[in-house]
Amino acid sequence: MKTLRSRIYLAIGIAGVAGALLIASLGSGYATRFFFDQTAQRAESTLRLTVAALSGALSRFGPLPELIADSPDVRALLERSSQTGLVSQLNGQLKKINDVVEASDIYIMKPDGLTIAASNFDTDKSFIGKNFSYRPYYTDAIAGGQGRYFALGTTSLKRGYYFAAPVRHVDTVLGVVAVKMDVDEIETAWRSAEHEIIVVDEYGIIFMSGRPEWRFKAIRPLSPAILERIEATRRYPTSSLLELPFAYLEGSGGGHLLASVDQEGTHTEYLVKSAAMPAAGWTVHVLAKTAPARTQAYVSLAVGLLLLLTLILTGTFFIQRRQSLMDRIAAQQAAQNQLERRVDERTADLNRANEKLVAEVAERKSAEEELRQAQADLIQASKLAALGQMSAALSHEFNQPLGAAKSYADNAASYIDRGRIGEARDNITRISTLVDRMAAIGKHLRNFARKPDDKLAAVPVGQVINDAVEIVAGHVRDRSAQITIEPGEEPLYALGGMNRLQQVLVNLLSNALDAMETAAEPRIEISAMSAGAGRILIKVRDHGEGIDEAATGKIFDPFFTTKGVGKGLGLGLSISYNIVKDFGGRLTVESHPEGGAVFIVDLERAREVPEAAAE
Ligand code: ADP
Repeated sequence: MKTLRSRIYLAIGIAGVAGALLIASLGSGYATRFFFDQTAQRAESTLRLTVAALSGALSRFGPLPELIADSPDVRALLERSSQTGLVSQLNGQLKKINDVVEASDIYIMKPDGLTIAASNFDTDKSFIGKNFSYRPYYTDAIAGGQGRYFALGTTSLKRGYYFAAPVRHVDTVLGVVAVKMDVDEIETAWRSAEHEIIVVDEYGIIFMSGRPEWRFKAIRPLSPAILERIEATRRYPTSSLLELPFAYLEGSGGGHLLASVDQEGTHTEYLVKSAAMPAAGWTVHVLAKTAPARTQAYVSLAVGLLLLLTLILTGTFFIQRRQSLMDRIAAQQAAQNQLERRVDERTADLNRANEKLVAEVAERKSAEEELRQAQADLIQASKLAALGQMSAALSHEFNQPLGAAKSYADNAASYIDRGRIGEARDNITRISTLVDRMAAIGKHLRNFARKPDDKLAAVPVGQVINDAVEIVAGHVRDRSAQITIEPGEEPLYALGGMNRLQQVLVNLLSNALDAMETAAEPRIEISAMSAGAGRILIKVRDHGEGIDEAATGKIFDPFFTTKGVGKGLGLGLSISYNIVKDFGGRLTVESHPEGGAVFIVDLERAREVPEAAAE
């Protein structure tokens, strides 16, 4: 993925560079042509203006020699050249005309070429007395034609364009009138940094130029014949005629003519626009520098390439951004898909686990149900067993006295039959005793039907002990037993029921007295104390025979008794045990190391002590 993308970017980059090169090569040609065209247009218009200005100047002075030649004064002077008065008059006139038309010089020559009158008569460079017969304008005019010529003035050493016309009288040419036009002023307007304007003659010699150093330089090689001719006409000082290192160039001009000038170590390229002025024998060249156009072309090209580069970079940037965005979206999508897949898998796992759990719960429920059923069955069975035990015990307890009562009754009946009333009465008394015993058993059994949820309250332990001792006081006296009570340091209140606790203590005291039947010094010690963790202990210790190990585990069972028939029911401790249990306490027994038994009632201490005890 990554390599593919980098290959794409590489391809875009190569395409961009190739495109840039193509555009550079095409664009450089186009841009060069475009700016060369503009340069050419400017050069063209400069050329037109220059040619117009030159033509204007030429046409201004063109007719002047003929006009002056027509003057009778001129003719008269040439016919009678000795008249000095006329000479000075004409000199004045010529000077005036010269000033008005702003020509350089106006002068009149005799047929032999000698100047006899001139506008510059009063200057040190006066033409008067000078012979210009070597000048072509003179020869043309004296031959009857119009003289036109440009040359460096031999006297003034100033370049000028010469106009000449013959002075005629009938068919004779009396002389020549010449007007010299100064070209310096025209040139001053030609100075420019962008282009050069040159006027060359038929030999390729620069006659006029905005650059003074180019004047009289040839743009073509000069042959000896030409040089000879120039010498003859004294047109230019041959000593200063040199070749300008000028050369026409080929190609790369965008269809325009190019030339170069290598001067002073610099190579300057020009775009050349030329126009011929055949009337004057001139060719005007406008040489426009190509450097600005080339610079403009390069700058435009550089700007274009820069724009292209910016475009490519921006495009690449956006493509890349879009690509990375798409990548990100794809990655997010993939992550989301993976997440969804995981969620699906997890959900499936959870569903499976859930189903398993539901099955397990159902299994557990059914197991629980089975267990509950088993428990219920067990309870039922144990209830039945308990009932059976109870029934067996009860039937045993009741059958014995009932059997005894039956035989006593039978005996009583036979005693009555035999008239032995005393024995009969005795038997009936025994029956009554047996019935009392059975009634006592029934009374005790009622205690099993107690309500275990009877309200518990704070019971004053000391008071209950005192009451219980009070109840058994008769027995104690009968046995000549001693009872000591240690009620504890503070008044103790235990959680329970007053009468029931009293019943428990009475039972324990009665058992203690029974256990000391044969004792020499029957003694009972009762103590109450507060133990840790909110408990109260009541201890009843006797000095009797104690409890043997085999009996310890059974003494709290119902109907367990070691007392003889008619003496014990075996229900007292069992009932007491359950009462203490209902109080949230425990009834236990220990053998005292010094003999005798210690019964311990362990009760919860009452947190709030009300004014009246419960029950
Ligand atoms: P009963 O007094 O009618 O026999 P109990 O349930 O009160 O019924 O007592 C069960 C048996 O526990 C007694 O028969 C006796 O053997 C034994 N026992 C109870 N208290 C004492 C005691 N203080 N010392 C010795 N044995 C005792």
